[in-house]
Amino acid sequence: MTDFPVFDGHNDLILRLLRGDVTAEGVASGLPDGHIDKPRAIKGGFGGGMFAIFVPSPGDKAVRHDEMCNPPYDIPLAEPISEDEATAWTERGFAAMNDLAAAGAIRICRNAREIEAALPAEEMAAVIHIEGAEAVDRDFEKLHGWHARGLRSLGPVWSRDTVWGHGVPFRYPSDPDTGPGLTEDGKALIRECNRLNVMVDLSHLNAKGFEDVARITDAPLVATHSNAWAVCPQSRNLTDRQLAMIRDSDGMVGINFASAFLRPDGRMDAEFELDIVLRHFNHMLTILGEDRIGLGSDFDGALVPDRIGDCAGLPNMLAALRSHGVDDGLLAKVTHGNWLRVLRKTWGE
Ligand SMILES: [Zn+2]
Repeated sequence: MTDFPVFDGHNDLILRLLRGDVTAEGVASGLPDGHIDKPRAIKGGFGGGMFAIFVPSPGDKAVRHDEMCNPPYDIPLAEPISEDEATAWTERGFAAMNDLAAAGAIRICRNAREIEAALPAEEMAAVIHIEGAEAVDRDFEKLHGWHARGLRSLGPVWSRDTVWGHGVPFRYPSDPDTGPGLTEDGKALIRECNRLNVMVDLSHLNAKGFEDVARITDAPLVATHSNAWAVCPQSRNLTDRQLAMIRDSDGMVGINFASAFLRPDGRMDAEFELDIVLRHFNHMLTILGEDRIGLGSDFDGALVPDRIGDCAGLPNMLAALRSHGVDDGLLAKVTHGNWLRVLRKTWGE
């Protein structure tokens, strides 16, 4: 096994299962398409990561794809999702995670020790993440229940309005300051996550929501799959001010492989060299330092560069980092060490 297994900040494999596109057995034995399955994970050194349970908006993906291929674009926020609909999807998401574990594709990890043990194993280390908290009730009863069943990370919003706050719309060029901050219920949700030691993911929040979390939380600030706005001025990316706040909280950022959030021209087009990823890496390294940067691929949720292709192509990314002068020590931090450090700190172990 590789000395540099990748623990990754974000993937959307579960959505493929929930849509019925793939089965847990298929993920274990190998799939003809998509970005993640067990054989390709072993080949590429994809040790695991945060697995998102996400409720899709109807018809949303087709619209986004067309417009994001032709910047500038300004895609309105997706329609809100009801708590009942989101709860049903979330329950199915937990069932899909259990199916993947039963099929021998993943090991569900609830703490850093379990991740460390699973990283070298053939099964992927999987941390359960909820992307967009539409399913959570205002009394947090379901949140407690899901935490007891392994939930360890939660994004208060996806790019949609919720009772908790407002997501950032997909817009290029645009800064992330696109609307109001968290609601009072949203602030209570952050405090409840702190009490439960559930990580709060900032990746889809707008700038005011981000600042609200920063004021309230007692945990490190984390954006699991976001890039540098200074390199690609897309609304989903992080400004230098946000990066500095993440540094000051001793949190971290996972670099997103979504072509539209990487390319300076904002186009959703996978044909480009990995030096563009290195520009984000460099910029973030300058502000965040060596201990606060990792990967957050968005595999199975984004159009990733052809030069990476899928999780079996991660060695190409690691080779690009090496050729850029990244030594073994920093490579170990970027591939998994920093995520383990921040998760340990967030989860209080
Ligand atoms: Zn996302």
